[in-house]
Amino acid sequence: MTTACSPARSPIRKVVIVGGGTAGWMAAAAAARFLNDGTREIVLIESDAIGTVGVGEATIPPILGFNQLIGVDERDFMAATGATFKLGIEFVGWDTGQDRYMHAFGGHGRDIQGLAFHQLWLKLRDRAGVGGLDGYSPSAVAAYLGRFAHPDPARPAPPLAYAYHFDAGLYAAFLRRLAEAGGVVRIEGQITGTDRDGETGHVGAVRLDDGTTVAGDLFIDCSGFRSLLLGEALGVPFEDWSHWLPCDRAVAVPTEPSTPILPYTRATARPAGWQWRIPLQHRTGNGHVYASAHMSDDEAAALLLANLDAKPTADPRHIRFKAGRRARMWEGNVVALGLAGGFLEPLESTSIHLIQTGISKLFALFPDSGFGAVERDEYNRLMGDAYTSVRDFIILHYHATRRDDSAFWRHVRTMPVPDGLTRKLSLFREKGRIFRYDDELFGIPSWVQVLLGQNVVPVGYDPIVDALDADRVADALRQMRATTLRSAQALPTHADFIARHAPSGAARQFAK
Ligand SMILES: Cc1cc2nc3c(=O)[nH]c(=O)nc-3n(C[C@H](O)[C@H](O)[C@H](O)COP(=O)(O)OP(=O)(O)OC[C@H]3O[C@@H](n4cnc5c(N)ncnc54)[C@H](O)[C@@H]3O)c2cc1C
Repeated sequence: MTTACSPARSPIRKVVIVGGGTAGWMAAAAAARFLNDGTREIVLIESDAIGTVGVGEATIPPILGFNQLIGVDERDFMAATGATFKLGIEFVGWDTGQDRYMHAFGGHGRDIQGLAFHQLWLKLRDRAGVGGLDGYSPSAVAAYLGRFAHPDPARPAPPLAYAYHFDAGLYAAFLRRLAEAGGVVRIEGQITGTDRDGETGHVGAVRLDDGTTVAGDLFIDCSGFRSLLLGEALGVPFEDWSHWLPCDRAVAVPTEPSTPILPYTRATARPAGWQWRIPLQHRTGNGHVYASAHMSDDEAAALLLANLDAKPTADPRHIRFKAGRRARMWEGNVVALGLAGGFLEPLESTSIHLIQTGISKLFALFPDSGFGAVERDEYNRLMGDAYTSVRDFIILHYHATRRDDSAFWRHVRTMPVPDGLTRKLSLFREKGRIFRYDDELFGIPSWVQVLLGQNVVPVGYDPIVDALDADRVADALRQMRATTLRSAQALPTHADFIARHAPSGAARQFAK
């Protein structure tokens, strides 16, 4: 029998992180904080010659938790990465081409006597003064007013839920400083091959172009789309989801910053995809995500350049990708994070979050050198579910549309969608019911905002809300709406808040 003390079950002594993009340095910073107990060596190998994907600027609120866990001070981080606050995403033109709605962070309204706010709103939405759903979301109202402040216990108003926009390259550099200060050793070099154990098939070492080898116990593959270890060395197959998510290219271009600096991302639908606009302190990130089956690279770049609101500061850069994920993200002694494990287009800014999820689940299931199947299988199940639920939420944005103006929109509007999404749509269409299953990332307010925003309007509402007096509930809704507006109006502007709280060099200059 093997025991915890036997050689086969000894602790992991050396962790090798392959790749120094956002995924690699997030893993390294977290490993420095939680795995570096003095008995373990942590190295990161990256190649300046290969570089990183160089995009990935918008995040979602759980990033605050990650930064806190690894000991990041918000002011330092924001100043170092040119970060701005993000209260949500404004979707423009996704239903008819003429519409707009906000998918804001946090909840909207307040449940009354345990009855879901959105059900009360569905019943009473046509009453005078009740108004649209956006008006009940503190983050949506503040976003539209261009205002921001941190939650303040002294303020009775509901707090704003927020995330950040930041420069991904500067974030990786910031994390690198933290990781190296925490004992992570960086090795510069290009990996040209791997050595595998003849018996277990595990990766024993990676070979570098200067002839050296780096051995390890656990390998974290953060090598980007190449998926050097999980995909190439171990041959774990890629599950292709492009029949549901046909966008497979992006063209990105930075522009000068535009004022005012908005506290939200904008995602504008285009004939074969969509365009992002992400405001940072020192520049605005712009990009056009599109399906190459429906638009050429030149057309996509021209459309992007024709729809910028400030002067470009670099040439457009083209990026290719495929939606999907590796069938297993942990195989043998290799765990893939970031693009090496899978990719879902950036519509809901979920990739960096999925890296964070991968890191926290890996630490929660951290193996010993026996690399037991139980931990590995649980990790693969949890990460599989995480990717699937995000995938379905993104598909919803394309599928729930009335657009009929291009072959692309006709395709996504009429394509079959995964069963889980079909079930969610049917349930919501009936009486506005929506449930959050297991560890799903997006909660009920997110689904409700996007469903209603894309004109999936239920035919009825949950009859349980008839238990409450309709006139009194309508009064309560009007009050909630008025309080939400007043609270947002009392906040400083986003630009003023940043200039005081965490200006980067560039923001200081603009504030003069
Ligand atoms: C168009 C687009 C927009 C995006 N926008 C967002 C967004 O708004 N929000 C978000 O959360 N995510 C976004 N993402 C995703 C985000 O960019 C990535 O999840 C994130 O940057 C992590 O990338 P990575 O570290 O896995 O890979 P990479 O950045 O590609 O890093 C790979 C690393 O591996 C190294 N490497 C590769 N091969 C070798 C080798 N042979 N030897 C040595 N080193 C090697 C490279 O040098 C590099 O350091 C976007 C992605 C795309 C494509």
